[in-house]
Amino acid sequence: MNGATGTSGATGVTGVTGVTVRVPAKVNAQLAVGAARPDGFHDLANVFLAVSLYDEVTATPADRLTVTCEGPDADKVPLDATNLAARAATLLAARHGLSPDVHLHIAKAIPVAGGMAGGSADGAGALLACDALWGLGTPRDALLEICAELGSDVPFSLVGGAALGVGRGERLTELPVAGPFHWVFAVADGGLSTPAVYGEFDRLAEDVDVPEPVASPALLEALRTGDTTALAGALANDLQAPALSLRPSLAATLAAGTEAGALAALVSGSGPTTAFLVKDAESADQVARALRASGTCRATHTATSPAPGATVL
Ligand code: ATP
Repeated sequence: MNGATGTSGATGVTGVTGVTVRVPAKVNAQLAVGAARPDGFHDLANVFLAVSLYDEVTATPADRLTVTCEGPDADKVPLDATNLAARAATLLAARHGLSPDVHLHIAKAIPVAGGMAGGSADGAGALLACDALWGLGTPRDALLEICAELGSDVPFSLVGGAALGVGRGERLTELPVAGPFHWVFAVADGGLSTPAVYGEFDRLAEDVDVPEPVASPALLEALRTGDTTALAGALANDLQAPALSLRPSLAATLAAGTEAGALAALVSGSGPTTAFLVKDAESADQVARALRASGTCRATHTATSPAPGATVL
């Protein structure tokens, strides 16, 4: 339902003063990366899992497109037309022959440039918020098309749950997923650029025969049955080696989480956030405390998955 969260005096075409959408972060339970294609992109088998760490995007009517952001990483978020939320509003408006006159406010909890698809989440959130504010009722398929145009992780932010992405990761099939799975995320100081991590992957793969990326049947089964131990044994990220090569200090974070009792430790997506799968909520608190005490990370978040995709509050 549309929440009247806006402070603007004006109203949207629906008479609503503001729409807030909540969008989850993701962890890649598996990220299998193929060799670089002639166009420079990589074929992927990308098993996305949404986690209960959320950004909120609020759209309110305005006389031009503006973006504001609050949260611990707010100063690292661009507020111009390059912001994925702004780009989403612009694409949606263009599709309907409208001018994107909207104020977008992002309440940001997802680490920036952390490999958790925070920007993608805001893109999907803004899309849904503007669609509701402007009363467009854009069909789901068309929204997913716009998401794919915005970036390969954006369609999953809309869908949530668990999904397999192939191609550049944007062609999605939803996956059956039980749970809950309990996670701890350790936020590193500074970000890692996703293109830089792929560049390092290519450098490390120069003399290697890179296999075709395929989803692991054991991993898909662990997700379907909600088997945490099996999932811990099946988690895999081909971007971990290049992320560690660019940021060797992440090895100490991974070790600190494992020593504290995590069932599995891995770099989240392109990093530098690290993800720890743990047995239960109690273990999550314990591992998070140990990670903070280790001095190998800036902050920790505990979360569970699966989490729903972009949702109007
Ligand atoms: P992914 O996991 O999809 O590879 P990421 O989580 O590593 O992405 P993001 O937080 O999405 O990285 O941000 C990557 C870059 O995108 C940022 O450094 C920033 O310059 C830009 N950006 C654009 N829009 C946003 C946004 N709404 N929030 C955060 N960053 C944004």
